[in-house]
This record gives sequence, C-alpha cells and structure tokens, in this order.
Amino acid sequence: MVKDDCIFCKLANGVIPAASLYEDDDFRVILDANPASKGHALILPKHHYRDLTDLDEAVGARALSVAAKLGKAMLSGLNCTGFNLVQNNGETAGQTVMHFHIHVIPRYEGGPEMVAWKPGSVSPEETEKIVEAVTSKL
Ligand code: AMP
Ligand code: ZN
Repeated sequence: MVKDDCIFCKLANGVIPAASLYEDDDFRVILDANPASKGHALILPKHHYRDLTDLDEAVGARALSVAAKLGKAMLSGLNCTGFNLVQNNGETAGQTVMHFHIHVIPRYEGGPEMVAWKPGSVSPEETEKIVEAVTSKL
C-alpha cells in the first residue's frame, strides 16, 4: 500500500526525485537531507508501513540485508570506519516521518560525535517486574 500524503512513499517510489544510492523491488535507499555524518542514508520500503510494529516480517528481513550491503559499500567507498543503524518508532523515540525507515549512519575517526545515552542502573526487583511486564505480552 502507498499512502498519498506520505513524503517517504513519494521518495521511495520516485514520485519526488532524491539522491538515490540503491533500488530494488522493495526498497529505495536515499541520502538523508539533514545528514548526521557524510553519507547518512535512509532505507525506505516502497510500501507504506507506519513503523516496525506495522512492518511485514519478510520486508523487515530484507531491509537488514540491504543495510548490510550498504554498510559494506560505505566502509570501502566512503572510508568510514564504522556505521550505526538507527530506527525510530513513535514520536517519543524521535520518529518524525511516520513511514518505516532505517537510518544508516557512517562513522568516521574524529567525528562527528553522536549523542549516546547515559548508562543508568536498575534494581533486581525492578528487573523482575520488567521481565514479567514484557514477557507476558510476547
Ligand atoms: P526520523 O526522525 O527517524 O523520522 O527521521 C526522518 C529523517 O528523514 C530525518 O533525518 C530527516 O532529515 C529526513 N528527511 C525528511 N524529509 C526528507 C527528504 N525530503 N529527503 C531526505 N531526507 C528527508
Ligand atoms: Zn509512506
């Protein structure tokens, strides 16, 4: 399904032109318009899925293969020394475009720096409650 008012549906399907790195039957990979680092790319499925919870499982599996292929090409083509996959689900998590996508962000010696989380702590009691709360819903 393609959603008429979705910018990523339009970019993925070539309705709006973009700097395209890769395309197959299921995906287009484009450069992010506001890159976190040189070569920051977005893997966009051609069909509309709101987020990971909405994504077709087989498409999700193929998306990871595309990410691996792209990461390898970035390591040799851009001379980055690593890359991050970032995938936001929901506004609280930083999702701004409600069409599933995976960020592939090349990382270079010397930066740019990226914000990491501050490691916290958790008690054994709280751990037990969390395990129960999640596993009961799986
Ligand atoms: P997220 O915050 O995970 O929803 O990421 C959305 C990403 O899409 C951001 O990094 C934006 O810079 C990027 N973005 C939004 N519109 C466009 C566009 N027209 N072309 C390329 N990237 C875009
Ligand atoms: Zn869409």
